[in-house]
Amino acid sequence: MTHAAPPITQDLLTVPRRLAETGRANLVGLTRDDLMATLIAAGTPERQAKMRVAQLWQWIYQWGVRDFAAMTNLSKAYRAQLAEAFEIALPQVVRREVSADGTRKYLLRIAGGHEVETVYIPEEGRGTLCLSSQIGCTLTCSFCHTGTQKLVRNLTSAEIVGQVMVARDDLGDWPEPGKPKREERLISNLVLMGMGEPLYNFEAVRDAMRICMDGEGIALGRRRITLSTSGVVPEIGRTAREIGCLLAVSFHATTDAVRDRLVPINRKWNIAALLDSLRDYPRLSNSERITFEYVMLKGVNDSDADARRLVRLIAGIPAKINLIPFNEWPGAPYERSDWERIEAFADIVHKAGYASPIRTPRGEDIMAACGQLKSETERARKTRAEVAAEAGLPAPPRVIRRPDAPDHPEG
Ligand code: SAH
Ligand code: SF4
Repeated sequence: MTHAAPPITQDLLTVPRRLAETGRANLVGLTRDDLMATLIAAGTPERQAKMRVAQLWQWIYQWGVRDFAAMTNLSKAYRAQLAEAFEIALPQVVRREVSADGTRKYLLRIAGGHEVETVYIPEEGRGTLCLSSQIGCTLTCSFCHTGTQKLVRNLTSAEIVGQVMVARDDLGDWPEPGKPKREERLISNLVLMGMGEPLYNFEAVRDAMRICMDGEGIALGRRRITLSTSGVVPEIGRTAREIGCLLAVSFHATTDAVRDRLVPINRKWNIAALLDSLRDYPRLSNSERITFEYVMLKGVNDSDADARRLVRLIAGIPAKINLIPFNEWPGAPYERSDWERIEAFADIVHKAGYASPIRTPRGEDIMAACGQLKSETERARKTRAEVAAEAGLPAPPRVIRRPDAPDHPEG
């Protein structure tokens, strides 16, 4: 991706050697049970295995240590045995961009040479890391840049938890081994709102989030993790039971006709089915309320009538409405609603008794805002006309390229 005003860019960190190159198995991303089985299979005596899991877990996830030789509460011989068979490998950071507002976007390379993006958003008193769960997406929401990229593959749990680990490396957010846990953490919250539909990669997301929530691991409470789904209804109950994090739903429309166009999964599970699946979520997951994400698209879903329909639809569901001003991307077939319109919409929702924060776009200058992520090397891009056709819109006008414009449309 080229930019008119290049942001600060750095090449970082060393290249982790991959299993294929080293012949060693990666321990990152395994559940505690799988880690135990893996250690036993490699010769750790069964009666010691539970303790070894606890020790390794703490080194890897609490302190961020990668080198077995530094794990000083293990015997030298055992450390050597581990180093022989295993590695602690993370995605490779190929580029880091820092926005004028402090948002950081990491471009990570993972097995197969694929690329994925992770975004860190610093805020007053907290910091949120936005994780990707897939490379590309099978869904084709017509306002989402990731939706123009076909699914390449699901991320593994190692690659999902690895995004948290590389960001903690970059931010210096690991506590010192042996020292008490730090009160203030730069990464205090996680959101699964990057590339991909997390509920179409359920097991890997679940295992990675369990590692992130584990009190002796990355130790972020389940109320500090929000999973955003476009509405994969059959997996919502399971999310409550098996992950138990907070849930956000990409709602975006108040009639099936409009939602069919914006979030095509609506044709499979419509608004009524989605709302039904949400009613039990707070009780099952013991969480307070569901976030309804609502992207503000000029003239499409932003009228007063929409706002009133929205509050009628969600009546009875403990909810917060997160209004997201549309983030533009090259070729997008929509425009952001005017600010006054967004505020008028927010006001109606607020008066009906719901919190209705307007999400400030972050990192727009580095294409890091919601819905702008896309791996730049993936060639399977759709054309603007295809995007517009899937949204049921007329094809957008062709942009006449200035002779001095960069090749890449994101320039
Ligand atoms: N696939 C999941 C999570 C990733 S998208 C989902 O759809 O929920 C995270 C949020 O950003 C979703 O609410 C999504 O609808 C929204 N989004 C996508 N493209 C956007 C854009 N261009 N501008 C603003 N929000 C966008
Ligand atoms: Fe996929 Fe979410 Fe984008 Fe829809 S909004 S295309 S589900 S990433």
